[in-house]
Amino acid sequence: MTQLEAARTGLITTEMRRVAQRECVAAEFIRDEVARGRMVIPANQRHLAGSAGQAPTALSGHARAYPDVAGGYPGARADARYWVNQTVAQRGAEMNGADVLRGERAPRRLDPMGIGRLITTKVNANIGASPVASGTAAEVEKLEWAQKYGADTLMDLSTGGNLTECRQAIIDHSTIPIGTVPIYSMIIGRRIEDLTYDTILKEIERQAAQGVDYFTIHAGVLREHLPLVGPRVTGIVSRGGSLLAKWMLHHGKQNPMFELFDEISAIMREYDVTYSLGDGLRPGCLADASDEAQLAELRTLGELVQRARAAGVQAMVEGPGHVPLDQIAWNMRVEQEICDDAPFYVLGPLVTDVFPGYDHITSAIGATEAARAGAAMLCYVTPKEHVGLPRAEDVKAGCIAYKIAAHAGDIARGIAGARAWDDDLSRARAALNWPRQFELAFDGETARALHDEDLEVDTEFCAMCGHDWCSMRISKEIQEFASGKDPDFQPARRAGQSPGVGLEGGALLRERARVLPVVDGKHACHSEHVPDAGRAQAVQAALLEKT
Ligand code: SF4
Repeated sequence: MTQLEAARTGLITTEMRRVAQRECVAAEFIRDEVARGRMVIPANQRHLAGSAGQAPTALSGHARAYPDVAGGYPGARADARYWVNQTVAQRGAEMNGADVLRGERAPRRLDPMGIGRLITTKVNANIGASPVASGTAAEVEKLEWAQKYGADTLMDLSTGGNLTECRQAIIDHSTIPIGTVPIYSMIIGRRIEDLTYDTILKEIERQAAQGVDYFTIHAGVLREHLPLVGPRVTGIVSRGGSLLAKWMLHHGKQNPMFELFDEISAIMREYDVTYSLGDGLRPGCLADASDEAQLAELRTLGELVQRARAAGVQAMVEGPGHVPLDQIAWNMRVEQEICDDAPFYVLGPLVTDVFPGYDHITSAIGATEAARAGAAMLCYVTPKEHVGLPRAEDVKAGCIAYKIAAHAGDIARGIAGARAWDDDLSRARAALNWPRQFELAFDGETARALHDEDLEVDTEFCAMCGHDWCSMRISKEIQEFASGKDPDFQPARRAGQSPGVGLEGGALLRERARVLPVVDGKHACHSEHVPDAGRAQAVQAALLEKT
């Protein structure tokens, strides 16, 4: 029985309880949202067991226990203990626990999570070897970076190397749901024109049996949609969409994924794999956004959502891509109407096309607006988008950009308890409690390194303004203000040596290779050291020399 079928019969599964615990809501609410189709829990029964692609041997997926670890940021109140609000340090500690979510045969098993617009916004990270770069070990390392820096799900989009081995390794090391685009494996060693129905179904079955939690299936691109692509500036930019378009034109037949939809659904139901109905005609540039090709496919996807649900299979819908900022909220609304509120899983969207090398930023701006307007999951974009294959550090940059987008969206949507994290960090900041501020920061290691780069002392100011100009310090001193006076957030001492940075912080500091000079035993940002302009210039010159 799938999560959807269980929810429809009124059953609350172990996975629904786990999702409820992680979202600070009642299990009945999760069950009702899943039954309604407004939430999905991508959880292949083999990944739930951690059975390394074999049939589970011990407990069934519906009877499995999960660690009773309180989620949430450090010191979170009970109503703000969202698992998605954990810091990088907390995530890393959990991942390093040898016995955390150990699978029957695999090193790890799935910790179920939900995707829906009435719970916290989720982030997906894409990784995958290409024919020209990377391999299984490098992809498993990227998975670990993605999990540590905030990914809630991960897609293996490998198109090179040993795809089956790489996919199994990723599933076996992952506690987050893994998605794939099965058509990529179907054309390894053959031309797209030679793809047969039999090959499609066999590959779907193979990947479902490996434990993949959700499949991107581009069943919504129909033959009759292809003429609508003609006027576009960038044609079809989805790899799956372009391959299937070529197949349809070569054979003069309908999209085989559409034709085989019921057979594919039957396989997915058996393992409880969730549909991520692919947007093969998503716009690849602002000029193509919200055009008739995109909307025609969306209408087909709306029909496929109903067919998937009727088959007992959970479904979410993928969305654009590249969209001007003023069209994003409209796109979210249209999807909700056409697709009966199936969770919308959007790629970005990028809000401008002229910043290659920085597309984690251009897209995070669009993703923030999408999250605010009801997107359920944001597919990250890295700085390497459009120009190359992301490496581990690009995965980190993309994840962090998207954690910002998702959390900002949750705050704007009024997800209860989401902003408590921000308010606690603000209290620590106003109290000039640096250790507490860095403990609460999502990536405290980076924040600590940037602080210590200038000033290796935790005291009542930082190098940004210096002692005399520190408005936080001045506000804290004003008796009439509440600023900085919360007793729960006071530092242990007014000044103390920084505890220093870890390996990653040290690497960051070496990379930047710049430390604020010390003058007469004190850091240069103390204005009492620079009583005149000449001395200030000397400090500035010393700084520049070091950079
Ligand atoms: S010196 Fe400036 S940036 Fe630093 S804590 Fe004070 S007000 Fe904030």
